[in-house]
Amino acid sequence: MTFSKLGLSSPIVDALNTQGYDSPTSIQTKAIPIALQGKNLIAAAQTGTGKTASFVLPILERLKDSETKKKKRIRALILTPTRELAIQVNDSIKAYAKNLNLTSMAMFGGVDEKPQKQALIEGVDIVVATPGRLIDLYGQRAVYFEEVETLVLDEADRMLDMGFIDDINKIIARLPEDVQNLLFSATLSNPVRELARTAIPHAEEIAIAKQAASKPNIEQWITTVDKDKKSALLSHLIKDNEWKKTLIFIETKHGAAKLVSQLEKRDIKAEAIHGGRSQDARAQVLNDFKEGRLDFLIATGVAARGIDIEELPRVVNYDLPFPADEYVHRIGRTGRAGAQGEAISLVSKDDFKNLCMIESRLDHLLERRVIEGFEPRKAVPISILNYVPKHKRQS
Ligand code: AMP
Repeated sequence: MTFSKLGLSSPIVDALNTQGYDSPTSIQTKAIPIALQGKNLIAAAQTGTGKTASFVLPILERLKDSETKKKKRIRALILTPTRELAIQVNDSIKAYAKNLNLTSMAMFGGVDEKPQKQALIEGVDIVVATPGRLIDLYGQRAVYFEEVETLVLDEADRMLDMGFIDDINKIIARLPEDVQNLLFSATLSNPVRELARTAIPHAEEIAIAKQAASKPNIEQWITTVDKDKKSALLSHLIKDNEWKKTLIFIETKHGAAKLVSQLEKRDIKAEAIHGGRSQDARAQVLNDFKEGRLDFLIATGVAARGIDIEELPRVVNYDLPFPADEYVHRIGRTGRAGAQGEAISLVSKDDFKNLCMIESRLDHLLERRVIEGFEPRKAVPISILNYVPKHKRQS
């Protein structure tokens, strides 16, 4: 399959070639033709599958020949759960649209709104926004929705987890009736289906998530360890294996800051990104990591959401996440576009329930490796597959 055969025209295909994309990924092959026909679409796809291009490219194709840059009147709207993802999607748009006369911007809170308003006055075709700031600017009449042709809900499951449902509904209610809706979500959970049922009528549905959950090019393993030995074990693994570029997930921002100093004591330079740091600090740290000036990035799940780092060889779960799909999201950061990846989890007795849920979701036990000197005093039992926590049985 080629991008031109999917119905994309040469300025776009040329830009993709510059990016080094030879052929479309499976989600792109399925989603692009449907979206190009103007149909509504619900797609189950995680980060790392090429999902961003699968909604951006049809938008570019559909918008490219009509009048662009109308004052305050945007023509495509992409909603994302976090500012990091908004920035990243906008970067992708800029790369894919480099031969077109279309403009785009990322819009998110926590920063001065004036430059965003100014950009809208000058005219922006595609806005990638987190819901709160968008509603704010809409309320101030800084942006109008009458000419919106396509709405994308990116990482819909995460937006719902983060409590954006009311904001999303408010935005949808203000869009033109005939808008095209595209929903992308790592999982089609009940709340996502409910949103889709009310907001996205007559949608075609495609799914590739299950397959991606067990990507064979990601080597996954766990090691059991007592909680109070985790930072020593992590330092040991980093030094012993000479790890470089590693993304380390941790549950709390307090834990992230503490881990930075624990690693520092062992001469390992790490930085943390979490909701408690300023936007500028987060952007700086992320850049340093992306460009190889920083090897160890510690992130809470929310701050790391959707972050795309090319050639990320390894992720570490310092804690095991809940829900299990978060694990799948996290390991999907590595082994992208066919590259080899490694995902290691440090599992203590406290993590046992989450381990059961994750291994049930994957449908197999994860390989356990013993690291000499770190064998736990409190053993972690072998999981029960098909484990369903009591309070979740109904959903
Ligand atoms: P996404 O799932 O949208 O976060 O994309 C994951 C990564 O795959 C990004 O780094 C993209 O640049 C890359 N990518 C997307 N589509 C392709 C493609 N067709 N060929 C090669 N790489 C791609």
